[in-house]
Amino acid sequence: MNVPFVDLYAQYLTIKKEIDSAIENVIKNSLYIGGSPVQSFEKNYAQHTGIKHVIGCANGTDSLEILLQVFNVNAGDEVIVPAMSWISTSEAVGTRGAKPVFVDIDPLTYTIDVSKIEKSITPKTKAIIPVHLYGNPADMPAIMHIAQKHNLKVIEDCAQSHDATINGKKIGTFGDAASFSFYPGKNLGAYGDAGAMATNDDDTALKARMIANHGQQGKHNHQMEGRNSRLDGLHAAVLDVKLKYIDKWTKLRMEHANTYNELFKGTSVKTPFVKDGFGHVYHLYVIQVENREKVIDQLNKNSIGNALHYPTPLPFLPAYKHLNHKPSDFPVVHEFAKRIVSIPMYAEISNDQIRFVVDTIKKVL
Ligand SMILES: *Cc1c(COP(=O)(O)O)cnc(C)c1O
Repeated sequence: MNVPFVDLYAQYLTIKKEIDSAIENVIKNSLYIGGSPVQSFEKNYAQHTGIKHVIGCANGTDSLEILLQVFNVNAGDEVIVPAMSWISTSEAVGTRGAKPVFVDIDPLTYTIDVSKIEKSITPKTKAIIPVHLYGNPADMPAIMHIAQKHNLKVIEDCAQSHDATINGKKIGTFGDAASFSFYPGKNLGAYGDAGAMATNDDDTALKARMIANHGQQGKHNHQMEGRNSRLDGLHAAVLDVKLKYIDKWTKLRMEHANTYNELFKGTSVKTPFVKDGFGHVYHLYVIQVENREKVIDQLNKNSIGNALHYPTPLPFLPAYKHLNHKPSDFPVVHEFAKRIVSIPMYAEISNDQIRFVVDTIKKVL
């Protein structure tokens, strides 16, 4: 049995007619940049998330960077980010000329360790970017409490966590603004790079939209130099179709996670931990194992997709060599990164496939 890590083609086949017709409509009407597909998706996604403004942009990395610009994060400033994430989270800080200040992860949830944030705040700190890693929400109530006390902006990195919740409230609605990625493999994915910024604040929304579209406030009215970071019509049309199915797909991901959890019970495999009241949406299903080399080898031999998210914690990447971080600065993530492996997770995976994955891993525990 072959179990791919994700199967985007399988997903396409379930909605082929609608996708094909949405794409044809964009081409027929030459709605490539802006226009009704983008407006429609922005409106629908705002309604879906419960956030007042959604502004499409080219990708999730741009979205973080533009929001940092809106919040006046510049050279000399510091921004607090978790030590485990995709590089975009810290990269967006660096490309603004600011310094990413890494904070270790919580050993249970793998999201930023809230108890270590305040120690990292200095007079230069401007913002915090919590990441809802793998789809598991960061502790937003605690983070907002710290941010308000120290007058910091909060940008939620929601790239892996579309529709994750805390006590029924969707992520992205806690911070000053939220950043979404619609990279094809994300829980809501376009057919190429795409992203969005979201905020309840009118002024933040206005500035973000302006920066993403050459600093324009209406055609040829350039208030400032911005950049070209727009959501393409084709991607918006695809996303608008997929948005109708995201509730169903998220529910399936949660069910598959439960199946994995049940099947791993009684083994030495450490399955994801979810706090009471938190809604994990399982962008990734990440386990911890003692003998990772053997497990990966066994998965590969049986044509089971697997990956590491991420092999090197952010502070230890060559890109951050100049910050001179030692493993003892981030002891939790340092150990964690040696034990993790991500196994197949997507709405279309079958129970037979899940059982095969678990049985295969059990053979080498
Ligand atoms: C994917 C991702 C991003 C960036 O999104 P792109 O659309 O690929 O630029 C940012 N943060 C996290 C945590 C991600 O997983």
